[in-house]
Amino acid sequence: MKIVRIALPVPLNRYFDYLLPETLSVEKGCRVVVPFGHQTQIGIVVDFPQESDLPIEKLKPIQAVLDKSSLFDTEIEKLLHWAANYYHGAIGEVLFNALPVKLRNGEVAERKQLDHFIVTEKGKIALTTGENKRAKKQEDLLKILAGFNAPFVKSAEFSASAWKGLIEKGYIAQFEQAYIAESWQKKLGNRPLVNSQNRLVLNKQQTLVVSRLSYTQGFEAFLLNGVTGSGKTEVYLQAIESVLNQGKQVLVLVPEIGLTPQTVQRFKARFNVEIDALHSNLNETERLNAWLRAKNGESAIVIGTRSALFTQFADLGMIIIDEEHDSSFKQQEGWRYHARDLAILRAKNLQIPIILGSATPSLESIQNAKSGKYVELTLSARAGGSQNVKHQVIDLKTQRVNAGLSDSLLAMMQKHLSQGNQVMLFLNRRGFAPVLLCHECGWMCECEACEKPYTYHQKQRVLRCHHCAAQKVVPRQCGHCGSTNLVTTGVGTEQLEQVLAEKFPDYQISRIDRDSTARKGSLEAELQAIRQGKSQILIGTQMLAKGHHFPNVTLVAIVNVDSALFSIDFRSEERLAQLYLQVAGRAGRAEKPGEVVLQTHYPDHPLLKVLLNEGYEAFAQSALKLRQTMQLPPFCAQALFRATGKNNEQIVNFLQNLTAYFQQKTVELGLQGMQILPPFSAPMPKKAGAYRWLLLIQHPSRRLLQQLLAQFEQDKANFAIPSSIRLSLDVDPLEWN
Ligand code: ADP
Ligand code: ZN
Ligand code: ZN
Repeated sequence: MKIVRIALPVPLNRYFDYLLPETLSVEKGCRVVVPFGHQTQIGIVVDFPQESDLPIEKLKPIQAVLDKSSLFDTEIEKLLHWAANYYHGAIGEVLFNALPVKLRNGEVAERKQLDHFIVTEKGKIALTTGENKRAKKQEDLLKILAGFNAPFVKSAEFSASAWKGLIEKGYIAQFEQAYIAESWQKKLGNRPLVNSQNRLVLNKQQTLVVSRLSYTQGFEAFLLNGVTGSGKTEVYLQAIESVLNQGKQVLVLVPEIGLTPQTVQRFKARFNVEIDALHSNLNETERLNAWLRAKNGESAIVIGTRSALFTQFADLGMIIIDEEHDSSFKQQEGWRYHARDLAILRAKNLQIPIILGSATPSLESIQNAKSGKYVELTLSARAGGSQNVKHQVIDLKTQRVNAGLSDSLLAMMQKHLSQGNQVMLFLNRRGFAPVLLCHECGWMCECEACEKPYTYHQKQRVLRCHHCAAQKVVPRQCGHCGSTNLVTTGVGTEQLEQVLAEKFPDYQISRIDRDSTARKGSLEAELQAIRQGKSQILIGTQMLAKGHHFPNVTLVAIVNVDSALFSIDFRSEERLAQLYLQVAGRAGRAEKPGEVVLQTHYPDHPLLKVLLNEGYEAFAQSALKLRQTMQLPPFCAQALFRATGKNNEQIVNFLQNLTAYFQQKTVELGLQGMQILPPFSAPMPKKAGAYRWLLLIQHPSRRLLQQLLAQFEQDKANFAIPSSIRLSLDVDPLEWN
């Protein structure tokens, strides 16, 4: 019997060997069912080794083979193995993560025609006996359907409950038919590829950029550095057009929040080709179908968030990453990969171009453009004739402030509103107030599991911890002195809404944050109300900042930036600069001039001065200089170990041992210049009841750092990691929490 090496979806970085019974045959990359412990598991075949580490009589046989051929083409297989190795993910988890959920659960990897139904024998009998007569709507529908000679699709003309009833009673059933894949080119037929009436006449800068993109061959990485509203999307669309003209497919990655129906609509309006958008409203069957459509060459364009990177294509010709600086491209849990960085590798492996677009590129990408790894293309002016915005800082120290709003800001709002325009306010804090405290003794109502104050939510009259999901009724008395004089401090979006409703009773307010948009579809409805001008005052967290175009917004205000100015995270300034420009980009997009206002107690902070007086480019250059002096990324590679657990002392001891291990290995392997920082407490030292400690290792050379990590991977099994400690590794970390 043949030995088969299998990857299982378990958090262990190793393979498992099984035997292939003579009655079965299987290829690499296929799914199999194997016994695992007392259960069975689905695994993926990765190899057929000559020998196993275990004696052959200990190996168990495979129970079933699920696929006729590999689910992974050689390109994606290579990418996933490289990525598992680089990010130190468990190989089984990495491979399974790249598949749609239905395939992870054993579904057949074939497209199904799910949308057609037929009337069953049972349904025909029911019509003659009249047994379902009492369900009038169902009966009427069934009569109509029985008159059809061919399979039919569900139609919205009849009530959804009537369809559901007929299916549940077995009167109609899904019609299974062999599915024949048709390439997107064939489906396009004689129709034109592009709806050319929608194609814009490019301005000079766009023309230069598009023509540079059109003569690229093989792998090339472009950094499309274009201010908000400069027409990057138009550049993408025209670049895509030439790739589609060569009969190739395109992958577009957007940030989590960017995948709104509006974005997708722009693509669909331009091209007459099959486009799949992998947004969060798809069910698992639709996701599987979209995955198969790309692999079969049925779809021409796939638009999706981070995980869409692992979509396989029949013939991929270009990758585009919009808002490349956005941190949602980094997976922050489990297997922590960076979709942008992996996309670069994927483009290189496939020898195709990749475009990274942003109005505020990450410092990493700016440095890569500087060093010649990326080709930088610039769009410095707003397209479509819109005007540039005016920036202004309000010094809160010199102002009367009510609920976070200065008198000057209120006056400006009044001016813009009375001119019939919309105003937008940003505050990165949801809820009513971030702290509830005792006015007599200063006691704060804290989440015990996180040791951080609860946020007060007035509408629901609850306290919520924004770090874990804990919820608590609002106490009537101080937990320390018993006083009933409890007060809130600080301002959240909910309070802002309340205060503004009092100050501007003649205007409607839309609030967009995680609380107000928790219901499915409510975000889209709220955005629609804004677009139609039904509300004039828009309040939101960062959710509102990204990618939404509201042409009537002429005033944008950032209510408070102060906490971001003094963070210990060296990336917080970069993030603030990006947020600021993102937000500023919301103002004055059409023919109306825009104003951007920032409220702060620190108008002289160097970051704000450079950013406001000289712009993002200048900020980026000075920030890069500082990073270089301090030997921080992108001038060094980092690996961050996170250890969490209930026993604080035990974690510290463990990380001290780990530090000693790394110091010793660094000497043994001769890795000079390795910096192993002493373990330190996370910025959020306790979360959901667990203590959190960090161990940071860095080296100017990515390769040498990887050499040390690979050594640890080998030794890990002998390393006694207490079972009460969770240890995870984050390569190229973006966050310290
Ligand atoms: P970005 O993606 O850089 O923010 P968009 O592609 O969304 O910019 O373009 C901003 C606005 O300018 C859109 O309304 C778009 O229709 C318009 N626009 C873009 N390019 C042109 C052009 N060449 N001529 C006229 N309008 C343009
Ligand atoms: Zn908590
Ligand atoms: Zn008290």
